[in-house]
Amino acid sequence: MGATGYYTHPDCWKHEMGPGHPECPERLSAIEDRLLITGLDMALSRREAPPAALADIELAHGRMHVAALRGLHDVLREDMAAGGPAHTALDPDTSINPWTWDAALRSAGAAIEATDAVIEGELENAFCATRPPGHRACREKAMGFCFFNNVAIAAKHAVERHGLRRVAIVDFDVHHGNGTEDIVAGDERILMVSFYQHPFYPEGGSVSNAANLVNVPVPAYTKGMDVRELVELMWMPRLEAFRPELIFISAGFDAHREDDMGQLGLVEQDYAWITRRIKDVAERFAQGRIVSCLEGGYNLSALARSVEAHLRVLTGV
Ligand SMILES: [Zn+2]
Repeated sequence: MGATGYYTHPDCWKHEMGPGHPECPERLSAIEDRLLITGLDMALSRREAPPAALADIELAHGRMHVAALRGLHDVLREDMAAGGPAHTALDPDTSINPWTWDAALRSAGAAIEATDAVIEGELENAFCATRPPGHRACREKAMGFCFFNNVAIAAKHAVERHGLRRVAIVDFDVHHGNGTEDIVAGDERILMVSFYQHPFYPEGGSVSNAANLVNVPVPAYTKGMDVRELVELMWMPRLEAFRPELIFISAGFDAHREDDMGQLGLVEQDYAWITRRIKDVAERFAQGRIVSCLEGGYNLSALARSVEAHLRVLTGV
């Protein structure tokens, strides 16, 4: 069996969105601590996330979005040098500090590099412990803690640069991956399957608006066993019929019952079960290739335990 890559970078700790913001650097520290305490760290092949090339980011985002984000950083740095504030808000939930640009490049770069390594057979699968997350970033817009859509960029990279014909994206974050949907809808080389709390932030997403999207909205307070049943019923037949050559995971752990960001009732065992089912498909059709990217998960203890459960299945230890 091949190795599991673990991608991260110190820049991912430097991006922060202000005091008390739930999408905080401590999330990555909680995961690191857990991996060290449990010894799972020993089973991972650690890699430094490189910065993404802008040409790759522009496979999923408009040039104006990329240029505007970069420009905002330049203005912020100049304002700070003149004694101005340390953050610029893009919306009520999402802001940049002077390191956001670098962290966002590393976060997307991790997903791309992991994709290359998995396709080249150097790794069997990989987990990108990076932030900012990405699945709510749209083609032309940053939102919901997200700036660049890491998974969508890497999926486009896999089909455009490596010529893969079918890649799947699995999104189990409590929030709807509206950004990924915005970028991949109608691209028949990519199948996206997801569940998410609904109605909830962001608006929309109750109906799949393209043939390559399998949206499974679930009401608040749904428990893990019911989610598993929906995964079996709604995701699995579509994934098996699609026969993906590579599977991306938008791995958000905020559907955990201890996570106050949402109101779903998943626990670690549910994440292990879902990961196992995804791995079954990957082993059957995709030579085991999985690239998993951290999205949400804001209760630090539940996040760390859930990532551990997820990684135990990916590594097989
Ligand atoms: Zn989320």
